[in-house]
Amino acid sequence: MKDLLERLGIGELNQGALTGLERLDCRGTVLESTSPIDGKILAKVRQADSAAYDRVSQTAIAAFRRWRDVPAPKRGEVVRQIGGAFRERKKDLGALISLEMGKILAEAEGEVQELIDICDFAVGQSRMLYGFSMHSERPGHRMFEQYHPLGPVGVITAFNFPVAVWSWNAMLALIGGDTVVWKPSSKVPLCAIAANMIAARVVNDCGFPEGLLNVVIGTGEDIGARLAADRQLPLISATGSVPMGRRVGEIVLSRLGKPLLELGGNNAVIVTPGADLKLASRAILFGAVGTAGQRCTTIRRLIVQNSIFDTLKEQLVSAYRQVKIGNPLEEGVLMGPLIDVQAVEAMRMALEEIRKDGGKLLYGGEVLSGGVYDAGTYVRPCICEVENSYPIVKKETFAPILYMIRYDALEQAIEFHNDVPQGLTSSIFTNDLRESELFLSSRGSDCGIANVNMSTSGAEIGGAFGGEKESGGGRESGSDCWKAYMRRQTCTINWSGGMPLAQGIKFGDP
Ligand code: NAD
Repeated sequence: MKDLLERLGIGELNQGALTGLERLDCRGTVLESTSPIDGKILAKVRQADSAAYDRVSQTAIAAFRRWRDVPAPKRGEVVRQIGGAFRERKKDLGALISLEMGKILAEAEGEVQELIDICDFAVGQSRMLYGFSMHSERPGHRMFEQYHPLGPVGVITAFNFPVAVWSWNAMLALIGGDTVVWKPSSKVPLCAIAANMIAARVVNDCGFPEGLLNVVIGTGEDIGARLAADRQLPLISATGSVPMGRRVGEIVLSRLGKPLLELGGNNAVIVTPGADLKLASRAILFGAVGTAGQRCTTIRRLIVQNSIFDTLKEQLVSAYRQVKIGNPLEEGVLMGPLIDVQAVEAMRMALEEIRKDGGKLLYGGEVLSGGVYDAGTYVRPCICEVENSYPIVKKETFAPILYMIRYDALEQAIEFHNDVPQGLTSSIFTNDLRESELFLSSRGSDCGIANVNMSTSGAEIGGAFGGEKESGGGRESGSDCWKAYMRRQTCTINWSGGMPLAQGIKFGDP
């Protein structure tokens, strides 16, 4: 482990503020990064204090003034090389993600691949920062819109995707001519230091200024709130829980900055009688148990037609029994630990509430102990039969609890589906065209993402990612999301020699 950390530039005690490759002296308290695998300390970080934050912010502003003048395809070339560097470091960074966050190695390496994919996407996009041209109603006038760099942008990220979410934002921001100040989750600070160093080394080798890519590590209430309130950062992208999004949204809007919010989900899958149940149960297993139920896109609710409820239940219980739980670095393990003992406690309390509400535990839910499970962070994933109306079912518990809910008619299933405050991602399993079209219609799923015959989790970077309602309304990654990181400008040029006004207005004309 020591070798791995060394290869990734992490020492025993690390500074919690970085501008590019430069590590700034910090005066904050020391944060211990412990592995959820065995509770052991991986390394320590001295957190950023306000003076360190201010230096980072000033450096990001100065770097922006130079970076915005670099032609976008040249900025794309730097991002292409960043993608190359992550290709080379995929195994090391994947192992660190497993160690610090606890997801299994295959998923951790998949997360690094997502980072590489967004680099590739951003490189192409750097030559396609297109604006429209319009026909003016005035003779001899030309109208068009263009996109300029926006400024240094703030990126706040959650623990469960320690590097991917940063990259979704950072790589599009970079090609857009912006610089980035990243405040990662204090639960996974080492992944942030390692990823930023890999990318910053490339920036440095390409001869560009320190300060394109920056990190500040500190608590949400202190450094996070400071970043959100920083008037020099026109855009704050914040990924995390709904309460965090509410707080950050308030701070950013109170200074009339732009918030881009990616918040919690409460994702449901509808399974209809004509569905391929084998396919459905395989997809549901990955969607509900993958990342130990700690994805924003994890399947939380399974809305199943009465006639197939028991069959699907049996298939799922049998699949759940096969799930090997243990050290996420070991081959064959499908589920690692939860992030910490507080997450285990939150799961235990949710199960207690379900029991009180009259829900039925169908499988799992135990906290595992002894031997490899000594850290107290391992649980057995669980399936419960519940009513959609239980208050706990309407909340996101960030743990592997799958709620099974019965329905009679599809319209009722869609009503259940939409009857929660969140609206991130959704899916239907059906072989009936009319059912899937209803689900995808304006009367169907009210989420930002809607799938057919696949899990709610496992998004590709090419599509716009994000949710509706309390899930925040933001969109990141693919499609035209790059526009959020740029300043749109509408231009009208008068080459006529006259001064015609729009709407035919005459103003003091002879
Ligand atoms: P969290 O809300 O506890 O923390 C997320 C980030 O916000 C952390 O960096 C934290 O330090 C920071 N933060 C907290 N309070 C803050 C404040 N007042 N001001 C500024 N920053 C603050 O979330 P978590 O436990 O790390 O992650 C799990 C949550 O994130 C789940 O709800 C999950 O659904 C959500 N999530 C959403 C997406 C998405 O794209 N929609 C992706 C990943 C995770």
